Amino acid sequence: MTLVAAPSAAVAPWTCPFCPLLCDDLAVAAAGPAGTLGLSGGECPRAQAALSRFTAEPSSASPSIDGRPCDLDAAVAAAARILAGSRQPLFGGLGTDVAGARALYRLACETGAICDAARGSELMQGQRTLQDHGGFLTTLAEVRTRADLVVLVGGLPARHAPRLLQRCGVGDAEGPERQVVLLGGKAGDEAELAGLARVAVKTVAPGADLFRTVAQLGALVGGRVVRDAGPGLADLAGRLHGASYAVFVGAVADLPAEGALIMEGLHRCVGELNLRSRAAVLWVGGGDGAATVNQTFAWLSGLPLRSRTGPAGIEHDPLRFDAVRLLDDGAVDALLWVSSFGPESPPPSTAVPRIVLGHPAAAPAGRDGTVFIPVSTPGIGTPGHLFRTDGSVVLPLLPVYTDGLPSVAEVVGRLTSAVVAARAGQAA
Ligand code: SF4
Repeated sequence: MTLVAAPSAAVAPWTCPFCPLLCDDLAVAAAGPAGTLGLSGGECPRAQAALSRFTAEPSSASPSIDGRPCDLDAAVAAAARILAGSRQPLFGGLGTDVAGARALYRLACETGAICDAARGSELMQGQRTLQDHGGFLTTLAEVRTRADLVVLVGGLPARHAPRLLQRCGVGDAEGPERQVVLLGGKAGDEAELAGLARVAVKTVAPGADLFRTVAQLGALVGGRVVRDAGPGLADLAGRLHGASYAVFVGAVADLPAEGALIMEGLHRCVGELNLRSRAAVLWVGGGDGAATVNQTFAWLSGLPLRSRTGPAGIEHDPLRFDAVRLLDDGAVDALLWVSSFGPESPPPSTAVPRIVLGHPAAAPAGRDGTVFIPVSTPGIGTPGHLFRTDGSVVLPLLPVYTDGLPSVAEVVGRLTSAVVAARAGQAA
């Protein structure tokens, strides 16, 4: 592989891969005392923190087996032995791009692996809501150009997508005038929106139980009488009916356990509103490649994650194929963990043999039974593609520099060939 020089000037256009918004209006450049990467052209604490983990130099990270450095061939061979000897492998994390997902799908079919993303339960909340009831979803562009009422469910989703309001056009000096309602947020959220241009902010039911609040709002939107409705809910129902285009926006990660019930309640509100006006929902989630792998598996197999291809054909079970549950129950005997965007999603601690394809900073410290292979980050060291949070948009990722590490697709491709060869050897 030919290494190119690290960036000395800002690299633009650049698509940020570090949250599901995939902002493509920023640039990245070498910055900081240790030559770490930095953001330019805008501000985002999440992107800046992620970039600061990369030095603009080719990586010196090495694969390892049981904590001992080795070359890539030896690591792939050891990983193939684990998978070839496994009766039921689990592929978890799944932090990769479209090409990585396609390669993982082929390996999953070859090994009969069950596949679930890191924080797969969050992903399944939205998945199950759509499977059970459908919904009216929208895009960032449509919110920015059309929505005159934005209801932020559960408060500001700043932790998961810091530039969400900006991407929705909230506060644009030249955009449409908007009402922003903080539904069930925390005290102090409203102050963070003070001073935004052309925005009227209102807080409704701060800190309230979202299950109850959304149920009551749904009844009010449907024209039913709710005697003990929370403060401001009747007014919000009136605003929703009076808006030209109302949009509920929320971060799935901020919803409580069983948050699918809240999502379903809001989708019912939207269905009611769409009888007379226009409304939709925008859920923010599926970062670190989770939504991308989910979409890719769905188009390749017809089924989303928490599926496997086994003797019974293709099976999908959003409850039984939960990675945490499978590991806790001892229902799997090998784990392949993929996390190429950063070290924040480390592999779970488990007694089963682990293969970790990870960011160089995610190397497990000297643990027996673990094969570690450092991989490149799409959008930093290699090109790639990711699905944005609004589902219908796929964005290309351009590398900032060549880091000298293999991509997930490359490693998984080699692993698949090695597993096939190992199986052929076992059968001979
Ligand atoms: S909001 Fe998300 S995609 Fe946009 S710059 Fe920040 S981390 Fe990157």
